[in-house]
Amino acid sequence: MADQQALDEVVRFTSDLIRIDTTNRGGGDCQERPAAEYAAEQLAGAGLEPLMLERTEGRTNVVARIEGTDPSADAVLIHGHLDVVPAEAADWSVHPFSGEVRDGVVWGRGAVDMKNMDAMILAVVRSWARQGLRPRRDLVIAFTADEEASAEDGSGFLADEHPELFEGCTEGISESGAFTFHDGAGRQIYPIGAGERGTGWLKLTANGRAGHGSKVNKENAVTRLAAAVTRIGEHEWPLRLTPTVRAALAELAALYGIETDLSDVDGLLEKLGPAAKLVEATVRNSANPTMLQAGYKLNVIPGEAVAYVDGRYLPGGEDEFRATLDLLTGPDVDWEFSHREVALQAPVDSPTYAGMRAAVEEFAPEGHVVPYCMSGGTDAKQFSRLGITGYGFAPLKLPEGFDYQALFHGVDERVPVEALHFGVRVLDRFLRTA
Ligand SMILES: [Zn+2]
Repeated sequence: MADQQALDEVVRFTSDLIRIDTTNRGGGDCQERPAAEYAAEQLAGAGLEPLMLERTEGRTNVVARIEGTDPSADAVLIHGHLDVVPAEAADWSVHPFSGEVRDGVVWGRGAVDMKNMDAMILAVVRSWARQGLRPRRDLVIAFTADEEASAEDGSGFLADEHPELFEGCTEGISESGAFTFHDGAGRQIYPIGAGERGTGWLKLTANGRAGHGSKVNKENAVTRLAAAVTRIGEHEWPLRLTPTVRAALAELAALYGIETDLSDVDGLLEKLGPAAKLVEATVRNSANPTMLQAGYKLNVIPGEAVAYVDGRYLPGGEDEFRATLDLLTGPDVDWEFSHREVALQAPVDSPTYAGMRAAVEEFAPEGHVVPYCMSGGTDAKQFSRLGITGYGFAPLKLPEGFDYQALFHGVDERVPVEALHFGVRVLDRFLRTA
């Protein structure tokens, strides 16, 4: 069991980590090293021997391993990123890097994404050291740099250059799951991440015949590009239910006493009300045009026009995504990935999923656990290259009025002390027995 010291430490560690400004502005503008040193010091205090690893100076990752009691069991990875997205102090009620604890709430950038989880991991493993406890499975702990940008100095670097540190790991646990989702009608839902959509950011290039703006031109690159962009933006992607989303719909329908009619998913979503938010972004692929570039003078037809599209595809949906883009762009417009990340699918009938579910139910008996697929992505994508199945499990029991999704990257990001205590108890229970 998590002891009193663990409950005190999780609050202090969250605060301290928030105070270490690890803003990631992209383009390599971030220094995680002071936060990595802080985390490594706490791990060393638990008798562990953390490794500090950098691809780029100052972009530090920390990895440690705790030997489990069952050497025949597969290892499990738990990872948290150390960087945070920028915060504009003028918009906030408290300074975003103050880590202030006020009225039982810890304030600051990273309070939910995800210095809270980093602090929970540290508090749990330190409590094990005090109590002489060990988990059943080997536990690999990784604190990563660069999650909020390309991950090239973080999980991508670790997966590519240091796979030996993750030897034996079959499953990974990290952010964006097991938080309280209040449905507005008194129900508390705990979505556990069991999949992520893939990222397909696209560059479209239309070529044509350059010429004078007053002449007949049937090969106008701007016209061709605009037509393709319109087709993409207006495309109605077909419904595709992944195993995770199918399970989520079944569990939500049961919770609301609605018949699970998968032949009319849009109708079912409507009946779910606010809880539909947990699935609606992950029942189809999507592609939203976001940027246009063409031309340099009003009376000159340019030979080329370029657009960018934010595309996302479901687990198992990449082939259809590519084929659809070929059709929608047509013969006169080329497309390529300017950035691509895999989609992930994790089983919801695994012992690990059952263990996460049981741990939440033990400490939140009023809660309803459902799986969900994330619409975006995390470091789990990079670790999946090592054959590690990723789950989103950073348990937080939030009171009504705390909109977890809105706090993510939001103004006045904050987390209740009680939520951190819940997280420590649930993680301790899950990680020791997983
Ligand atoms: Zn995050």
